[in-house]
Amino acid sequence: MRLTALAGGTGAAKLLRGLVASIPPRDLTVIGNTGDDTDVWGLHVSPDLDTVTYALAGLLDIERGWGRAGETFRCRDAMSALGVDVWFNLGDQDLATHLWRTAALRAGCTLSDVTAELTRRLGAQALVLPMSDDPVRTRVQTPESWLAFQEYFVRERARPKVVDVEYSAADRARPAPGVLGALRDADVVVVCPSNPVTSIGPILAVPGIYEALDVTRARIVAVSPIIGGAAVSGPAGALMRARGLPLSPAGVAMAYSPWLDTLLVHDTDRDRVPEVEALGVRAVVTNILMTDRAGEAALARALLEAAR
Ligand code: GDP
Repeated sequence: MRLTALAGGTGAAKLLRGLVASIPPRDLTVIGNTGDDTDVWGLHVSPDLDTVTYALAGLLDIERGWGRAGETFRCRDAMSALGVDVWFNLGDQDLATHLWRTAALRAGCTLSDVTAELTRRLGAQALVLPMSDDPVRTRVQTPESWLAFQEYFVRERARPKVVDVEYSAADRARPAPGVLGALRDADVVVVCPSNPVTSIGPILAVPGIYEALDVTRARIVAVSPIIGGAAVSGPAGALMRARGLPLSPAGVAMAYSPWLDTLLVHDTDRDRVPEVEALGVRAVVTNILMTDRAGEAALARALLEAAR
């Protein structure tokens, strides 16, 4: 069974780790969000691609949910001592990834070439594709100003009120090589439990991807990132509200409903099933909270079962 997953960062990483415990990693293609890519100290950082790659390679710091396990931050501390206002943390091993990526991009490689090679060198066996090789940048409007996604999320700790969200330059972006084929040829497309607005939204904003989801013969199965009227973690709630989406599994289904077949919702949201099914999306009730490796694997198995 060939699987293609649309993925953000931390929530996606957990489910993808569970999936490669059940299927051969080579049968998995991940299409990663690059809307929150950013430039730090002159380096190209792809937070979601790296979280997914580190997770699949067994290198992710599981406690933090980002960066590499056993990380040190000596370079960051030295930057700080130089008077740099350090608000985006890059670990010392993680820096190697960004140095390597930036050098390759400067030498003329595309982000998809760089990502494929990095994944291979780091030891992840699934195929990880950026949604696009063209720069798409998620921006968040607060009552004061527009912020780059990382400024909102990391520097401002997602505290400002969100008025609007945009994916700048998305209209000019092309899907990265392999993306449309991976959606067309998959048996199952998985929409990971990721932020629908700032992790999956940018992927869907790349022209051609939404249409490919509409016509693919694959079953499309999503896992709700919303449980009990709130995001499991992170700012998905505020961002969904800004987009006029209810904070419920039905709100997630609305974000994906034209092409979504099945939504996995949490046991405690059983009473929300009719709202989801009223949108033409089948709801499957199970434990969708992943608190350890066994939970990740169990959710992956439930998802594969629901897709059959
Ligand atoms: P980010 O780039 O780190 O924000 O990455 P994602 O968008 O992939 O992950 C954040 C989303 O995953 C949030 O909306 C969370 O609610 C959701 N999430 C995190 N852990 C879990 C989990 O164990 N189960 C479910 N269902 N959702 C989760």
